[in-house]
Amino acid sequence: MGKKLNGTVIVTYRCNARCSMCSRYKAPSRPEEELSVETIRKLPRMYFTNVTGGEPFIRTDLRDIVRELMKISDRVVISTNGFFTDRIIELCREFPNVGIRISIEGLEQTNNEIRGLPNGYQRGYTTLKRLREMGMRDVGFGMTVQDRNAPDLVPLYQISNELDMEFATASLHNSFYFVETKNIIHDRPMVAGHFEDLINELLNSHSPKKWFRAYFNHGLINYIYGQKRLLPCDMSFDTFFIDPYGDVMPCNGTRDKEVMGNLNEQSWEELWNSAQAEEVRKKVRCCDRNCWMIGSVSPAMHKYIWKPAWWVIRHKFLRFWKKKKYSMYENKIVRDYRDGRVTKEELDACSTCDLCAIASNGLSEGSNAQLQSQDGEDVGKSDFAAQIEGKR
Ligand code: SF4
Ligand code: SF4
Repeated sequence: MGKKLNGTVIVTYRCNARCSMCSRYKAPSRPEEELSVETIRKLPRMYFTNVTGGEPFIRTDLRDIVRELMKISDRVVISTNGFFTDRIIELCREFPNVGIRISIEGLEQTNNEIRGLPNGYQRGYTTLKRLREMGMRDVGFGMTVQDRNAPDLVPLYQISNELDMEFATASLHNSFYFVETKNIIHDRPMVAGHFEDLINELLNSHSPKKWFRAYFNHGLINYIYGQKRLLPCDMSFDTFFIDPYGDVMPCNGTRDKEVMGNLNEQSWEELWNSAQAEEVRKKVRCCDRNCWMIGSVSPAMHKYIWKPAWWVIRHKFLRFWKKKKYSMYENKIVRDYRDGRVTKEELDACSTCDLCAIASNGLSEGSNAQLQSQDGEDVGKSDFAAQIEGKR
């Protein structure tokens, strides 16, 4: 038996939200083309599986997919916007060991503005509380930090602490997956300042897991200043993503979709050991996009554990013996920007933001074809309406 992998299963590109930093809702997949249980059964053994979308709970057969994934994966975590409370609760009744991460983009008003879902914050928060009341252990928040919601970062972390839940962070990225090319942080020092506060809160805790999360957030400061990743990216070597069409990809951070093979048509061994997969691995080796998302960083933190571990030891030592807090200015680029040695335009040029580019969407021909006659948002709305009426 080969070694276990880390996989992300994108079960759908349909989404009921309207997030300001992600246009996926305008580019939905057709339900008929989405991953079948038969294809899921062909996946390899995994030590960790993330189930995501779009909004995964928009699939009314999600339970069948999760049931198969639980057989081949040591741990399954579903990322959701938390809107479909009843579906989430129902699934968790059947699978109490599954993990649930609900993305909340700030305090109530900010979240609702960014997410574009009426009452989105209350629904997400209610779902989280109900999951806790049910005794679900692996439950947490996720937040994508940007200029608009950065001031809510620490207050939201404090709410997650009160609820005794995990708190995961990300920042803006551009890729075919988000159908975006224009995401960028404008006021880097302001956003970095809020990350600095969060890092100090995390380092101040008694949880080693949180100390490592502090390192991850330190990496986010480095990322928003457009610098080289703190750790190598080994996506596609022992990590993969699979999209709703069965296409296996290295990650979700590339500009255009990179395909290693198709699991609807191939066996896993054939696909994973193919010349096409090797070609993609070569591209990953020289990829300069420098993403810093948990999907690619978490495996790297485990693999190159000494780098984050040394950072944690140094900062715990400084905090305990020298009473010295973490400062964002320990990043050279943050000092350089403060001291005028680098301009905002130069930093913008280091990002993946491209104001002139047309975003690639990674859809199949069939899914793109439906967008010829109908706006993607309208396709999503009628799909959602049909679901509410119980027709799907
Ligand atoms: S970020 Fe997630 S919830 Fe928001 S539009 Fe994109 S897929 Fe939907
Ligand atoms: S840096 Fe890694 S995760 Fe990002 S696009 Fe490149 S290969 Fe993918």
